[in-house]
Amino acid sequence: MTHQGVQVPKQSHRPTDGPLRNVRPPKRLFVFDLDGTLAPSKSPLSREVATLLTALLRTMSVAVISGGAWPQFEKQLLAQLGNNEHFERLYLLPTNGTQFYRYDGEWRELYAENFSDEERRTIVSSLERALDESGLAAPRVWGDAIEDRGSQITLSVLGQEAPLTEKKGWDADFVKRTKIVDHLKPLLPNFAIHMGGTTSIDITKPGIDKAYGIAKLIDQLGFSTDEMLFAGDAIFEGGNDYPVQTAGVDSILVTGPDETARVIQTVIACLGDGAEQITAPVVTT
Ligand SMILES: [Mg+2]
Repeated sequence: MTHQGVQVPKQSHRPTDGPLRNVRPPKRLFVFDLDGTLAPSKSPLSREVATLLTALLRTMSVAVISGGAWPQFEKQLLAQLGNNEHFERLYLLPTNGTQFYRYDGEWRELYAENFSDEERRTIVSSLERALDESGLAAPRVWGDAIEDRGSQITLSVLGQEAPLTEKKGWDADFVKRTKIVDHLKPLLPNFAIHMGGTTSIDITKPGIDKAYGIAKLIDQLGFSTDEMLFAGDAIFEGGNDYPVQTAGVDSILVTGPDETARVIQTVIACLGDGAEQITAPVVTT
């Protein structure tokens, strides 16, 4: 084909030929929620997710932000990951980012922002009263219902030790917790209230939610929101993952760890070095 005497190459029909327009910065940090996203509530990572996270750490940095305290990170996450040569690329933010851990040969706490004694008393009494007034106090409670995590106080309506089978069916649609939160809001006007996990409500200082953790990742590590990708199981209004999306991070709602595993595989397939073929099911070693 010629045009004004010049040889013009035949047009290709491949839709991806040529540079893509408006390409965003490549994703460099994958941020995950823990409970209900990487692992079942208060339970360890599956072998599959542990294998995929290890592979993902070879591709990009990873951060985990959870309402859970540091011991939960050790039990649910680190115990399943073993000794990982890329831990220096893994950032752990317990209690919604009010604490920050990173690895330099061992895990170190960079900071922790805790409640005063007076704030603690106000929150605990308000949680007890809201639970009572809502009429949703459970007839059976496994372990303590209220847990002080230093910079966050959490009400787990069925108790900290409740079996997952009990917790799963209790408030899957968040209706019960929304009712408790309605009673709680006038009692704690100066605190942030978020629903998370399967039966829990988290109280933090105002402005302390997962978006705060995102801001800390930007401050401490210099990432931009454009470079981050987030996956969580509570990305909806009132959900404890919602502030991340509100902060402008590309956010993927997942139904649970199995779906998270598929998302991680997709990211490795697109951004990884291609050293390993993506397979189904994931081959665990
Ligand atoms: Mg969650």
